[in-house]
Amino acid sequence: MHQNEPLIFEKSSPGRRCFVPPDCDIPEKPVTNFIPLKMLRKQELKLPEVSEIDVVRHFTRLSQKNFCVDTNFYPLGSCTMKYNPKINEDTARLEGFTKLHPYQPIEQCQGIMELLYNLEQILIDISGMNAFTLQPAAGAHGELTGMLIIRAYMEKHGEKRHKIIIPDSAHGTNPASASLCSYEVESIQSNTDGLIDLKKLKAVFTRDTAALMITNPNTLGLFEKDILEICKIVHDAGGLVYCDGANMNALLGIARPGDMGIDILHLNLHKTFSTPHGGGGPGAGPVGVTEKLKPFLPVPRIEIAKKSVTERVHDMEKDTSMPKLLPNDYILNYAYPDSIGRVRAFYGHIGMMIRAYTYLLSLGKEGVCKVGEYSILNANYLQHKLKRYFEIPYGKTCMHEFVISAKKQKQKGVSALNIAKRLLDYGFHAPTVYFPLIVEEALMIEPTETESMETLHVFADAMIQIAIDIEQRPEVVCNAPQTTPIGRPDEVKAAREPKLKWQDFQR
Ligand SMILES: *Cc1c(COP(=O)(O)O)cnc(C)c1O
Repeated sequence: MHQNEPLIFEKSSPGRRCFVPPDCDIPEKPVTNFIPLKMLRKQELKLPEVSEIDVVRHFTRLSQKNFCVDTNFYPLGSCTMKYNPKINEDTARLEGFTKLHPYQPIEQCQGIMELLYNLEQILIDISGMNAFTLQPAAGAHGELTGMLIIRAYMEKHGEKRHKIIIPDSAHGTNPASASLCSYEVESIQSNTDGLIDLKKLKAVFTRDTAALMITNPNTLGLFEKDILEICKIVHDAGGLVYCDGANMNALLGIARPGDMGIDILHLNLHKTFSTPHGGGGPGAGPVGVTEKLKPFLPVPRIEIAKKSVTERVHDMEKDTSMPKLLPNDYILNYAYPDSIGRVRAFYGHIGMMIRAYTYLLSLGKEGVCKVGEYSILNANYLQHKLKRYFEIPYGKTCMHEFVISAKKQKQKGVSALNIAKRLLDYGFHAPTVYFPLIVEEALMIEPTETESMETLHVFADAMIQIAIDIEQRPEVVCNAPQTTPIGRPDEVKAAREPKLKWQDFQR
């Protein structure tokens, strides 16, 4: 690892060049022939002067500093950093997709329309919901879309409900999305098993409450076993159940939210369906709904044209601007008067949808079912290996992830953050830390199904060595990491005052 890769500007040496073209042998025309004088730059840009090999080495080294699933194990709980098969990238780069323009006439886009339509059908199949929109650009955006749909539904039915109930283990985006829709958020405390407390739910879910927003499996990696009863309590009070399905891994091929009584659900294609993520996107957070919420979905909806050839020909004669589509062709239907409208330009991040579709087709139905089984198996195997060394407060059989508490280690002066940092020295990405909020000194571990038993062993060995070190020489863990390009950045400062340009350093 190159510890101190200088900035490309610091490598600059006057006169050094990458590629020197031969002298121009035709008369040059003044640049103002092409670009108006007032639009020309006043002074030369200060660019680094470097050779080609300097540039290649510089950027190749920088690329190695980025941690990714392609280089090592990435057990970032709740984020499902599973391997993204390269075939997904190949299909997303097919020219027929990359060269499409969103303003192209619909009859020229039938291929992508078919893909999106089919993807919606597969998601319907997997989740048990009745219809999907693929538009939302992330999980949080899916939640916002879902909240807008709930609000539109309640308004349509003349219901004045201003509250959303959310368990205290929820992902932070849940309350944020609800309040963005001007809902008041009420948190309910989980019971000692880490699950929703039915008695409490019954007490707080009153006639002024629009919905319960749950995550199942929840962020402790536990399945809400009373889900049928939970949905009944909410429905009996005239409310709706929203499910945060960002991490659907554990349910794939085993159980369907639609069958549990969930009314509305978002999925994260960029978690469960393997499309890459991190670094802020792009993502895709499709939202699925039951029949009664269908009219409120965002438009346009992708549908199959229903009209017969004769009817179409008749329409075309009347209106020459009508697309020349045949029945069974795909259309974008805007005719939903109760729709919440568009939530994204065009049809969302279709590159992500192509990847997810490829992933689903290449796994096939059987393969998709195995994802659920293996993700649960891997998480339980790892949990079992670690439970002698770390406290696991809700340590029952877990789903796709589990949460360790470093409370015991904290008494020796070693925090969850220290443990996370020490893992970097072993070449692993750290697990999610300090979430969910209800676990003290939390480390949330999600191995995903794509990891081999050998990888799990190496990771477990590292965790066990760290636990031993905390007993014997805690300073090693407290001073980690030692082997990474930078040690411990001031994360708050880095986020609030990012210096992203050479000029920022020069000031
Ligand atoms: C990741 C995640 C989200 C938010 O998804 P984004 O795509 O990051 O907006 C919501 N809920 C849970 C449980 C998540 O893990």
